[in-house]
Amino acid sequence: LSRRAATLVVSWALLAACSTGGAPVVAAPQPSLSVGAKTVPSAGVGTVAEALRLAGVEIPTGRVLSVRTHRALGPDTRPGRVLVDGQPTLPAAPIAPGAVITVERGGDETEPLETVTVPVPANKGIASLRVGSHPGTIRVTRGAISHELLSSAPVKAAFDGTLISSRPIALTFDDGPSPKYTGQILDVLARAHVHATFCIIARQAAQYPALVRRIVVEGHKLCNHTFDHDEHLARKSPAQIRAALIKAQEVISEASGGVAPTFFRAPGGNWSPQLEQIARSLHLTPLKWNVDPDDWKRPGVARIQSRVVATSHPGSIVLLHDGGGNRDQTVVATRYFLAKFQSLKYSFWVPRT
Ligand SMILES: [Zn+2]
Repeated sequence: LSRRAATLVVSWALLAACSTGGAPVVAAPQPSLSVGAKTVPSAGVGTVAEALRLAGVEIPTGRVLSVRTHRALGPDTRPGRVLVDGQPTLPAAPIAPGAVITVERGGDETEPLETVTVPVPANKGIASLRVGSHPGTIRVTRGAISHELLSSAPVKAAFDGTLISSRPIALTFDDGPSPKYTGQILDVLARAHVHATFCIIARQAAQYPALVRRIVVEGHKLCNHTFDHDEHLARKSPAQIRAALIKAQEVISEASGGVAPTFFRAPGGNWSPQLEQIARSLHLTPLKWNVDPDDWKRPGVARIQSRVVATSHPGSIVLLHDGGGNRDQTVVATRYFLAKFQSLKYSFWVPRT
């Protein structure tokens, strides 16, 4: 679909009178300007621009395209061309009777490039069990308007900080509160004097506020896990994402008796840079994980326990589930691996916001 092909022909027609020798002079027809079916008189028209204005014809502009995906950016700004008898001409040029004026759409052009140094967040921008981290920098070449990335080269490496203690680990429990399992998990944690983070589904928080208050009172942290476990949140508009996070935040805060979650975890781990950025703008730290025993698939207590122990290392954030289905195996496995971690001198922390 080439809008460029669309041309308008403005023909300047003049049936010039010819007078030869002593022959009688024939009255000449009025010089006229024809635009398609339209004919306008050309009397008093001195320049190309005046002819176009009289015909109501504009010189169409072209598009600026992004450097990588070639999408059109902003209003069309590339000037088009005007040709007289096929020759590019300035609009201010004088027009001679009989000439043919053509306008051509401005050519599409790729946006300019810029090379800039941008920060790179430490810990990939996620909550962690580290202190003293600092961001790095990276030099990128990108579209000056779209910021679409063409190439990048590290300048200064980010420093992910040092571990918060010698062998820290964090447990996170998702998809609760559950009337059947959250209390059991809280009992297991309390007996071991371990604090964890609970990623709460707001709809359930409204149903079981006493459990949310117990989580808070017993020293655990709250994480916003959306109102109804929306796994497609990242695909929604910024306004929808923002409204969804705020709604869940309000419902959970009310259930907890006024304690607001400080973390956000995307259901299904379906993150996007935009989702993370909006969470941060609401003072919610994105809470990811790097140990996932798939406990919700109920692979057996022994398997959950051995997966957690085998794949954890100092600094790990472990994903577990106290809600969303039968969590008998998670309750028992947690009891076992807590004892194992304590014998391995791990200490339990809540990630830093
Ligand atoms: Zn979940």
